[in-house]
Amino acid sequence: MFKALVIEKDEAGYRAGVRAVDDAALPAGEVLVRVEYSTINYKDGLAITGKSPVVRSFPLHAGIDFAGVVEASEDARFKVGDRVVLNGWGVGESHSGGLAQKARVKADWLVPLPEGLTTRQAMAIGTAGYTAMLCVLALERHGLLPGMGDVLVTGANGGVGSVAITLLAGLGHRVVASTGRTGEAAYLQGLGAAEVIDRAELSAPGKPLGKERWAAVVDSVGSHTLANACAQTRYGGAVAACGLAQGLDFPASVAPFILRGITLYGIDSVMAKPSVRMPAWERLARDLDLARLDAITTEIGLGDAVQAGTDILAGRVRGRLVVDVNR
Ligand code: NAP
Repeated sequence: MFKALVIEKDEAGYRAGVRAVDDAALPAGEVLVRVEYSTINYKDGLAITGKSPVVRSFPLHAGIDFAGVVEASEDARFKVGDRVVLNGWGVGESHSGGLAQKARVKADWLVPLPEGLTTRQAMAIGTAGYTAMLCVLALERHGLLPGMGDVLVTGANGGVGSVAITLLAGLGHRVVASTGRTGEAAYLQGLGAAEVIDRAELSAPGKPLGKERWAAVVDSVGSHTLANACAQTRYGGAVAACGLAQGLDFPASVAPFILRGITLYGIDSVMAKPSVRMPAWERLARDLDLARLDAITTEIGLGDAVQAGTDILAGRVRGRLVVDVNR
C-alpha cells in the first residue's frame, strides 16, 4: 500500500483526497518509480478542483509531473536506482500521476535526471519551469541574444513566469516582469527582473499596434495580455505563448504579423518529443541559478496538495510549490 492524492467522480460528485492505495491499482507501464517529489502546477489546480475537465479517467492519482528513483523496470534504458523525471504525456490527466508515493509509466515518457540536479530541484523546476525553458529555447532559435532589448515576462509571480525571469536574467537579458502583484516587486527584482510593471497595462483590450517595446516575450497568460504583447513587440521580434491564466481567447489583429514581421511561437510541454525535452532539461541543469530556484520554492506535504490546488487557481501561489509525497 502507498499514499496517493486520488481524484474520484461518481454519483457523490467530484472530489480529491489523500488515500491509501494498493499497488495493484497502478496502471500498466514498463517502469515503476518510487516518487520523491511532485509539484502543484496550474493544471494540477484545474485537475484537483475539477474547475476544467482536465481529468479524463476516474479514479486517478493527480500530478502531471514527478521526480524519483526507479524501483523496477522492464525496459533496458532504465535500471533500478536510476533517477528520473517525468512531465506531461497525459500523466495526472488520463494516466495516474505523481502526487503519489509510486507511479508506473511508459519508459518512453521518462527523462534521466541530469547530473547536478536533485529530485527536489527537478520538481522545484517542474512542468512550469521546463515549459519556461522551452519558451526561452524557442526565442533563442529565433535569434534572441542578450543586449537586443527588453524581454517581457507575463504572469511574473507564477511558476512559468518566475523561472522564465530567473533563466532570462541569468542569461544576460534585460527582463521586464508584468504582474498583478506589484507588492512582490522586490521578490521579482531578486530573481533578476530589471523592471516591474502592473499587468493592468496589458490585460485590457488594446490597439492593433502599440509602441514597439519588446525584443521578445514569454507569455503564460493569453487573452488580451498576449494580444497586447504581440502589438508591442518590436519589428522582427518573437513571442512564446504557453498559457491561459487570463483566458483561452486571443483577441488580436494580424497587424503585428504583417506590418512588423513578428513571430508567435506556440509552446507545448505535454507531448514534446524526447529530442526536445532532453536538451531543455540539460540546459536547465546548466543555466538555472539554483540559489534563485531555492528562493522561488516552497515545500509542502501531500496532505496540503488539495488546498494548494485551490490556491494556485486563485493566484495566491508565488513561484513554485514542491510536494514531498513522503511527508
Ligand atoms: P501559476 O503559477 O498559477 O501562474 C500564473 C500567473 O498568471 C499567476 O501567478 C499570475 O501572475 C498570472 N495571472 C493569473 N490570473 C491572471 C489574470 N486573470 N490576468 C492576468 N494574469 C493572471 O501557473 P503556472 O503553473 O505558472 O502556469 C501558467 C500558465 O501556463 C497556465 O495557464 C498553465 O496552464 C500554462 N502552462 C502551459 C504549459 C504548456 O505546455 N503549454 C505548461 C505549463 C503551464 P501575477 O500574480 O504575477 O500577475
